[in-house]
Amino acid sequence: MVLHRVTPDGLPGEILEANDVACRMFGHSRAELQSMDIAGLDAPESPVDVRRIVDELRAGRDVLFEQTHVTRDGRRLPVEVHARMLDLEGRPAILSTVRDISERRRMEDELRRLEREKSLVLDATSEMFSYYDTDLHIRWANRAAAESVGLKPADLVGRRCYEVWQGRSDPCPDCPVLRARDTRTAAEAEVTTPDGRIFALRSYPVLDEAGEVCGLVEFGRDVTERRRAERERERLSRALEDRNRELQSLMYAASHDLRAPLLNVYGFTGELRRAFEAVRARLAGAGLPPEIRDRLSDLLDRDIPEALEFIAAGVRKTESLLGGLLRVFRLGRAELLLVDIDMDALLAEVVAAMRFQIQEARAEVHIDPLPKCRGDTAQVNRLFTNLLDNAVKYLDPARHGRIRITGRCDGERACYCVQDNGRGIPPQHLEKVFELFHRVPGQASAGDGIGLTIVRRIADRLGGRVRVESEVGVGSRFFVELPAVGEAGSPAADQAAPA
Ligand code: ADP
Repeated sequence: MVLHRVTPDGLPGEILEANDVACRMFGHSRAELQSMDIAGLDAPESPVDVRRIVDELRAGRDVLFEQTHVTRDGRRLPVEVHARMLDLEGRPAILSTVRDISERRRMEDELRRLEREKSLVLDATSEMFSYYDTDLHIRWANRAAAESVGLKPADLVGRRCYEVWQGRSDPCPDCPVLRARDTRTAAEAEVTTPDGRIFALRSYPVLDEAGEVCGLVEFGRDVTERRRAERERERLSRALEDRNRELQSLMYAASHDLRAPLLNVYGFTGELRRAFEAVRARLAGAGLPPEIRDRLSDLLDRDIPEALEFIAAGVRKTESLLGGLLRVFRLGRAELLLVDIDMDALLAEVVAAMRFQIQEARAEVHIDPLPKCRGDTAQVNRLFTNLLDNAVKYLDPARHGRIRITGRCDGERACYCVQDNGRGIPPQHLEKVFELFHRVPGQASAGDGIGLTIVRRIADRLGGRVRVESEVGVGSRFFVELPAVGEAGSPAADQAAPA
């Protein structure tokens, strides 16, 4: 407590008395204080309106105000002053009860700091965040939430979520915040606002020390663009599937129907050959002049049979290509029967069926123990038959052929590798070899460029993949990945029905 005078012009004046607490608080002895003016204790930056306070006091009212004092050692001391005017021996004096409020100020500062930190943290995310009381009034919200309706966070406080975002006067049906409140567990929902935006919302109950729901938090994300893109993607992929199916049946029908006239052409080349034979037989006994006979025999013995052979070869080639096309198309339609496949047994079968070619090529085939996979036995057999057939077919005659099949399990994938030391594939053909009818130019071995297309189709349909690494003159490695055993929900499982 400090007792001090009021100067003749009505301002606080010299200190008359101070108690022990005041002496300790300001760090001055009583004598020192009594030699000072009360204004000497005020911090120069203190914004207190002294004249107004004295006027109030003169009017007979007590005044409560906050002030910053300076201690003897220069420390700033925030205080709360309760001042009262007294009449001391006929002259006015002021009795001030001064309370140190440093601790309260510190807590207020700390609270402000926490509040600022909370805003910074909440505004750091682009996700919308709101905190509600149990009656869905917004207690606080971050910037993202406020900006989603063109407002500032403070504008949202006290309003209800359904008014702010939906323009409704009652809660939305399926409100995740209400569900979180009522079930006391997290709840999610996707809601559409009247302006067509879609928000993905997650809400969690906030429990007090007694385990009661005292508030609800909600996170929200604007997923309008994503949902729109997903819908567009689905639409496009459906359209693409329809187109693909249409194209496939068209190609299938075309390949199928082209075969009949082709067989006709082939049949008639035989007819023509026989007809020309008959002509030749007749001409032999016809006694033609030698120069005519010689010219005709050039035609009949050489040019015509050669032309017929070209026609027949062309027809045979076209027939084989159409046959290949049909095989590829049929592959897409074949029903898949997914089972766990014992790959050691399957590869042994594949090698046994190819024993003749392997012996012919004098190749050495080594099969490591292989992991099982999940697939359709006939299709997987076909896939590896094609790879092994190529490995044998494209060996380099200049060196002893070695083919090796290895495998390992990599989590959800069974990975296999068919490796040969054959002639290899030039880099520019590496990806193309999987395309329909693509063959590396200059191959001596017969083929129609369909085997690897079939390999890739099978791998795709079974939810796997295939790729190749190769070096000319060194050899090739075909890597096949298929779903491992026990892998549920592989893409193949969805395709098990006929296409
Ligand atoms: P095809 O064997 O009937 O030509 P594929 O589709 O099976 O058709 O193969 C396409 C091409 O890829 C082959 O013509 C060949 O040039 C190349 N190729 C495939 N496998 C191998 C291999 N193991 N080594 C070298 N070249 C290969």
